Amino acid sequence: MSAIFWFRRDLRLQDNEALTAAFESHPDGVAAVYMFNQPEYQVLEGIRQHSLTESIRSLSHDIDGQLNVLQVQSVSEFSQRLLKICKQTRIAKVYAMESFDPKGISEQTLLSKELGSAGIELHLVGSAYAVLPGKVSKPDGGNYRVYTPFYKAWMNLADVLPKVLPSKLNWLSIEETKDVPKPTKVSPIKVIAGEDFALRTFERFTDRALDHYDEMRNRADLSGTSHLSHALAHGEIHPRTLLATIGDSPAHEVFRKEIAWREFYADVLFHYPHTVDDYYEPRFKKLRYDTGAIADERFAAWCKGETGYPMVDAGMRQLLAEGWMHNRVRMIVASFLVKDLHIEWTKGAEHFEAHLSDFDPASNSHGWQWTAGCGTDASPYYRIFNPILQGLKFDPDGKYVRKYIPELRHLEGSAAHEPWDIFDGYSGGYPAQIVDHSEERNESLARLEELKSQNS
Ligand SMILES: Cc1cc2nc3c(=O)[nH]c(=O)nc-3n(C[C@H](O)[C@H](O)[C@H](O)COP(=O)(O)OP(=O)(O)OC[C@H]3O[C@@H](n4cnc5c(N)ncnc54)[C@H](O)[C@@H]3O)c2cc1C
Repeated sequence: MSAIFWFRRDLRLQDNEALTAAFESHPDGVAAVYMFNQPEYQVLEGIRQHSLTESIRSLSHDIDGQLNVLQVQSVSEFSQRLLKICKQTRIAKVYAMESFDPKGISEQTLLSKELGSAGIELHLVGSAYAVLPGKVSKPDGGNYRVYTPFYKAWMNLADVLPKVLPSKLNWLSIEETKDVPKPTKVSPIKVIAGEDFALRTFERFTDRALDHYDEMRNRADLSGTSHLSHALAHGEIHPRTLLATIGDSPAHEVFRKEIAWREFYADVLFHYPHTVDDYYEPRFKKLRYDTGAIADERFAAWCKGETGYPMVDAGMRQLLAEGWMHNRVRMIVASFLVKDLHIEWTKGAEHFEAHLSDFDPASNSHGWQWTAGCGTDASPYYRIFNPILQGLKFDPDGKYVRKYIPELRHLEGSAAHEPWDIFDGYSGGYPAQIVDHSEERNESLARLEELKSQNS
């Protein structure tokens, strides 16, 4: 008996629990399909279109061109197409990785229902995580709302044994198009993606940076992080593969903790699915935010990287240029949008979603909410990043800022962070600050007090 394997955000062969299960139970043949949802694809910015098609193209290459790319207008159309294939090939079982975010859950629920009514089973196996979201629980059975105790419990459950595929894979050939659609928008960079590239990226990281990860990871000017977020978001590598390799040194431990942040946010989103685009701490909905023409202008300046704050602008320009931003800088730009420009985090999260090639619903929403102060955060105070001090600390020689902001390239060393202190600081045409950080900091704290008094 043959089966179908539906590739989702698990675009790889190695250490793919669901794929291993499909081949172990159906050595005669497995037909590979990918749901290419055209309406969802067409709204993606160029960089996301290119990074997705590159991942799919690479997977298709890895399975000898046997990936059937089903271009559809909806999940319902996808299930009708699957039903037709099942009927033609007498297949009664579809395997896939289980998804735990709201969109993935709604896809698999609909598919399971529609296939099920025709007697076809959708068999969901594994996840994109070392521990299934929803599995880590407190001794009283509840879920964790704070990261550190989650991490301790997660460590006891984390699955670090990579799943091995049978040595012979019999891909079933079916009469469907194998063509991967071409991007319809331009990307600012040529994207390299795929399982092989992900494994090489991890190898390069372990050789060059992992042993210093704890000291280097916050430096925006150094390549001290793994750059594996795209691969993890598309499932070109599984966290098990990473966890199986790393050791127990302090640097390795910090890296493991970052992997666990991704799992924590997936767990939080699973328990509170509305938080994908809504407040985790609902009282912050009532905080006074700015809207209207001035707020719109400021938002546009933030998106373009023209706020007059070098570290913020470098980050926002890196996002547009590369579809990626350093984690420390993501926090700085997010804090600036919410605490200095008083604009709701949801607008920033949408902009990130449009441009990040590593977009992940849980990490994005909760990364934003953590920084905005309305998410999961054990800290009792309201964190407001000083964008200038953060720049001086995490890009001490101004290299990162000069890389992305040509108007500041004539300034040496850390001077690039403070063009207002240099007599020709603005001669490259760099814009003036759109707001004053210390005034906006006070304003932000005043609005927080206002909110507290409403709630008391
Ligand atoms: C406002 C904001 C939005 C974010 N949006 C996303 C997003 O859409 N997609 C995404 O993958 N990450 C997101 N992050 C988390 C983090 O910035 C990126 O995962 C990280 O910068 C990716 O670079 P790296 O692979 O070199 O990370 P490394 O430092 O090498 O970390 C290894 C892996 O651990 C995970 N990780 C690391 N830090 C975090 C974190 N703070 N939260 C969750 N997972 C983490 C990632 O999967 C990452 O690839 C966001 C953070 C913030 C503050």
